[in-house]
Amino acid sequence: GGAGTASTTRQVKLEKESELRIEVANDTPLRLRLLNGTAEIFGTELPPQIWLTFPPHFKFAVFTWYGATIEMDGSTETDYTADETPMVSYVNVHAVLDGRRNQAKASPESSQGPRVIVVGPTDSGKSTLSRMLLSWAAKQGWKPTFVDLDIGQGSITAPGCIAATPIELPIDPVEGISLEMPLVYFYGHTTPRLISLNDLAKVSYDMNVENLKIIFTSSQNVDLYKALVKELAQILERQFTGNAESRASGMVINTMGWIEGVGYELLLHAIDTFNANVVLVLGQDSIQAFHLIIIQEKLFSMLRDVLKSKPNVDVLKLQKSGGVVSRSSKFRQKSRSYRIRLYATILPFHFLSILTRLVSCSLSQEYFYGIANDLSPHSNIANFSDLFVYRIGGGPQAPRSALPIGADPVANPLRVAPVNIDRDLLHVVLAVSYAQEPDQIVSSNIAGFIYITDIDLQRRKITYLSPTAGELPSKYLVMGTLTWLET
Ligand code: ADP
Repeated sequence: GGAGTASTTRQVKLEKESELRIEVANDTPLRLRLLNGTAEIFGTELPPQIWLTFPPHFKFAVFTWYGATIEMDGSTETDYTADETPMVSYVNVHAVLDGRRNQAKASPESSQGPRVIVVGPTDSGKSTLSRMLLSWAAKQGWKPTFVDLDIGQGSITAPGCIAATPIELPIDPVEGISLEMPLVYFYGHTTPRLISLNDLAKVSYDMNVENLKIIFTSSQNVDLYKALVKELAQILERQFTGNAESRASGMVINTMGWIEGVGYELLLHAIDTFNANVVLVLGQDSIQAFHLIIIQEKLFSMLRDVLKSKPNVDVLKLQKSGGVVSRSSKFRQKSRSYRIRLYATILPFHFLSILTRLVSCSLSQEYFYGIANDLSPHSNIANFSDLFVYRIGGGPQAPRSALPIGADPVANPLRVAPVNIDRDLLHVVLAVSYAQEPDQIVSSNIAGFIYITDIDLQRRKITYLSPTAGELPSKYLVMGTLTWLET
């Protein structure tokens, strides 16, 4: 470097089957490259010699099977090497899955590859394990389908959605999943009564289990969640029928960290709906609190007992990696709101791959806007009469007189109700549905999102940001509780 610039470049030698765990500094990116040997990041091999740039806050590990030397340039929040990892058990699972894919490919009559579902508490490494299994499979030429059912921290698209996409190449360590045409369904909520960033700051309870319970109990939308899971599964099933390659490659399904009560019921529902035949139960590593080990044991034995009647479903317990970073509830809230903002205003789906690096980690405004210059959102104006906004569930109850005698008037959670366009829509993120008619909204996937920046009641005009200029793919918009306040 030039005069006065302190060099921060350093090398780390990794022994075989060990990993370098890194959390990038809060304000500056980190450059890293593989000097010699072989190494991978969450299942994707590092190219030799090429510098990769990881944005602030990024948390990851560089693992080597046979030994490697890594060079780093820049500062980190933490970095350390660990030689105790569960990677051997993970790759053994991959080997079994690979065998089943080959079997499926070889036998035309039972040509269904493995359908893996990854379950466990929040921050047990579910997304990371899903990613490794997908990347290892893609490396061997398979095209597994990634299904993400986590409405809170899903890694395919914006929060509040469930989604699926085929994985054709190992997942890029920095940019994340590259998306052509993901199949996305809009649930609309990630947290209860999310109204503004101010409110968000006031939410002080923990965002994992408790929070998810509240979402479902407050909005009574368990039925909607189940309905969307079913729609997604049906579409995938249909796609598999016509595509032997994806069918043999199978699926990897990531789930929410909510595993108790209704959360557990939803896991069983997902296992059933997707016909999952491998259930991976992630838990805590041995140095974690004892009660967390109990949680894994309990979940494992409950699932094993209840799935006993299905002889072709394997339930397997796997150790959590000691490297999995527990994210504070605040971190999760923040990354969630950044993602809502990001997807609402910047990202058409086909640009996702370019910007996923921002999504997966960056909490810094600089990064947020810095790279995105070329993808600035378009501001559009529409008449009130051009757009139709709907809400699912929670509409007025059917009057008793309209029901068969003796039936109770309960609100239909799948009821689609029109929403009046007024100032309440300001700062709301709306999903653009592919529905042709309002009654198709629940069963339709979505094209993307728009973000309402102004409502002019006098001129009856709506100003909104969308990723592209011009006409929206449909005039039917779905409102949940996703909002964003420009700061
Ligand atoms: P979950 O999906 O169960 O909530 P994640 O897989 O998202 O958990 O992991 C939580 C965080 O820990 C992520 O930021 C991930 O990148 C990080 N992480 C996972 N495994 C490791 C590891 N071995 N070393 C360092 N960080 C890791």
